[in-house]
Amino acid sequence: MSITDFSGIIKKIKEKERLEKLKLATRKKYAEIKAHPVLYALQKEKEKRRYQERKEKKQIKSIKDESPRVQREKRRKWREASDNPIEFIVTRGGQRTAVYQGHTFVQMTSTRWYCSKRRGDCKAILVMTEDRKFVELLKDHDHPAPKLFRTATGQIVRLLDRTRD
Ligand SMILES: [Zn+2]
Repeated sequence: MSITDFSGIIKKIKEKERLEKLKLATRKKYAEIKAHPVLYALQKEKEKRRYQERKEKKQIKSIKDESPRVQREKRRKWREASDNPIEFIVTRGGQRTAVYQGHTFVQMTSTRWYCSKRRGDCKAILVMTEDRKFVELLKDHDHPAPKLFRTATGQIVRLLDRTRD
C-alpha cells in the first residue's frame, strides 16, 4: 500500500470523526434549545416554516394530490382516529405506552409505536406525529385486544397477562 492510499484512509476517518462531532454538537444544541422556552418556541416556528416551504415545493404530498382511493382510505382512518382517541399510560415497568382501539403500543422512535405484542409477532404499528397526533395504523393485529380496565380516577390499567412469559 502506498502512502497516498494511507492518506486517503486517514482523510476518510477524519471526515467520519468530523461528522460524528457535528452530530453530537447538533444534538447538544437541540437539547439546550429545548430546555429554553423562548428558543424552543422560535425553533418550532422555524421548523413549521420549513415544513410549509417543502409543502409548497411539493416535497410533501397533500391529501389532495393522492388518488381518490388513497384519499378515501386516509379520510376513513382519520375519522376512525377521531372516534378512537389515543390515550397514554405508563406501565408499572415505567414504559411509555399508548392505547389505541383497546390495543397497547410501546414507543420505538419519535413517531413509531409498536404493538406491545410485537414479540408475539404482531406487526401492527401506530404512527403518530412527534406531538402525538394520530397519523395512521400500519398492519392489522394478529390477536385480540388485551384486557384493559379503567379505574374510578379514569386511569387505564392493563391486567396481568398470564399467557405471556
Ligand atoms: Zn398487536
